Amino acid sequence: MINKKNEEIIEFTRKLHLVKLRSKLDDYLEKAQRENPSHADFLHMILREEVERKESAAIERRIREAYFPYRKYLEDFDLSFNDTLEQHQLDRISSLDWLDKVFNLILLGPPGVGKTHLSIGIGIKAATKGYTVSYVSMKELVQLLKTEEINIKNRNRLNRIRKSQLLLIDEVGYLPISPVEAGLFFHLLSELHEKTSILITSNKGFDQWPEFFGDPDVVLAALDRILYHCDIIQLDGKSYRLEHRESLLN
Ligand code: ADP
Ligand code: MG
Repeated sequence: MINKKNEEIIEFTRKLHLVKLRSKLDDYLEKAQRENPSHADFLHMILREEVERKESAAIERRIREAYFPYRKYLEDFDLSFNDTLEQHQLDRISSLDWLDKVFNLILLGPPGVGKTHLSIGIGIKAATKGYTVSYVSMKELVQLLKTEEINIKNRNRLNRIRKSQLLLIDEVGYLPISPVEAGLFFHLLSELHEKTSILITSNKGFDQWPEFFGDPDVVLAALDRILYHCDIIQLDGKSYRLEHRESLLN
């Protein structure tokens, strides 16, 4: 059903970036013929679908730009498997209130108890609600900080990290870092202080942090800042991975 007017409509949708209307114009017109909606209903439907498309594209973009290694959802976290995380704690961290108060969150515990799952789940939920989120592993973060001056891509990534409302730093304490690297890391933390909520996952208790980061004074100063407005959740128990391991031999 191509006529002059429809061609012009297509042209307008291009200029206004009305992607849905452009691709569905024929469907919309047929539907209007068939169902004879009121003018207001018809306009409402077209605009609603356009707004929904834009919003979901924005969510998808925020999730993509957060650099999650994979997607995990809070809804898939099985509390019955993990008896050290209580429902009220999960509710509190899922509510995202703490982001508006610029609180931090630290998830501690051995491998496989769901630290990364929870942090990505929180990150995806926050991105869906409109917050700017970045995910980075500690190893990658140190690499980014060290190469910021010489690598534009890394500098851009760090700029986004600095602008984020929520920064997830996964696997703090897994690999040893040098005093210079620790200095860069703590400098970043102080830049973000009171501006960005930081979620840290670590397999090391705080008592082991000075050893890991080298300089106890630097660690204490940084911890003091992070912990000032912070919830700490200690996860324990069996590794979900080991318990649900699929064996090739059986
Ligand atoms: P960690 O970061 O603590 O080492 P992960 O979050 O990577 O652990 O969890 C390991 C795997 O087990 C992931 O695939 C994760 O989705 C799954 N997992 C861990 N705990 C749970 C849980 N309570 N409910 C559902 N899946 C879980
Ligand atoms: Mg992990």
